[in-house]
Amino acid sequence: MSTRKLHSLSFDVEEYFQVANLRGHFARSDWERVEPRIDVGMDAILGALERHGARATFFFLGWIAERHPHLVQRCLEGGHEIASHGYEHLFLQDLEPASLHRDLERTEQALMAAGAPRPVGFRASTFTLTRSTWWAFDVLVQRGYRYDSSVHPVRHPVYGVPGFEPGLSRVAAAGGSIVEFPVSTYPLLGRNWPFGGGGYFRLLPGAVTRALAAGLERRGRPMAFYLHPWEFDPGQPRCPAPAFKRFRHYLNLDRTLPRLEALLERFRFGSMAEVLAAEGFDAPRGALSATVPQRGGQAAERG
Ligand SMILES: [Zn+2]
Repeated sequence: MSTRKLHSLSFDVEEYFQVANLRGHFARSDWERVEPRIDVGMDAILGALERHGARATFFFLGWIAERHPHLVQRCLEGGHEIASHGYEHLFLQDLEPASLHRDLERTEQALMAAGAPRPVGFRASTFTLTRSTWWAFDVLVQRGYRYDSSVHPVRHPVYGVPGFEPGLSRVAAAGGSIVEFPVSTYPLLGRNWPFGGGGYFRLLPGAVTRALAAGLERRGRPMAFYLHPWEFDPGQPRCPAPAFKRFRHYLNLDRTLPRLEALLERFRFGSMAEVLAAEGFDAPRGALSATVPQRGGQAAERG
């Protein structure tokens, strides 16, 4: 049996036409008319996970789960965790507590109707849990969520909470607390640099990603990698977005799968819930507050 450290792998299950980066090209009202491609990416991902005996967390949009319940089923059959990515990829800053409650409830119903257990994990669209949307933690706790993976502890013009604890930490909220499990960053020159997925994963050479990952493993930190099904679909239709957006969306789509396979070869991956359990963050809400100070850094983020 392997005694290697367990890291988390996750996928935000959304279509290429729902990505925030291409919002200017695909209107919400177009979604029902655009060619669905989600199966292409999901086939590639589920095949790779099965070949390597790895498990992952799939953060489904409720909109996807309603239209493709067989994908929820296939994930469950593979032993993977189903979690919530919200219903229709709204940014938290465009919601307020009551509408987030409704969005989460609609997503929970879609996931459970597709056969999944009630989700305990959430990831907001496009890392929009920031200082200005901190109230979302209260809503998540009220709805019984055990962990969130929406804070990106980096400097970025649109999202990010620079200085936030980059490892696992517990965040106090009204009515309890919740574990925050940010996607992985690498500490260098006093800053956290993103490398744990998405565009950065496709931009950086695979060997660099694996070296950074090995560095975090040596520090004893569980990683959180994340990707999207559309990143495994080089044949998706090209849309005439501005050059920078096209670069971000279409770069190295043919390399995502081999790079993921190389990671799966080198490191041991499970779902986010499995990593929380392995790291001792699995106890009922509020029971682990004594473990927070050793990580440090995050108490100041609450004020
Ligand atoms: Zn998303």
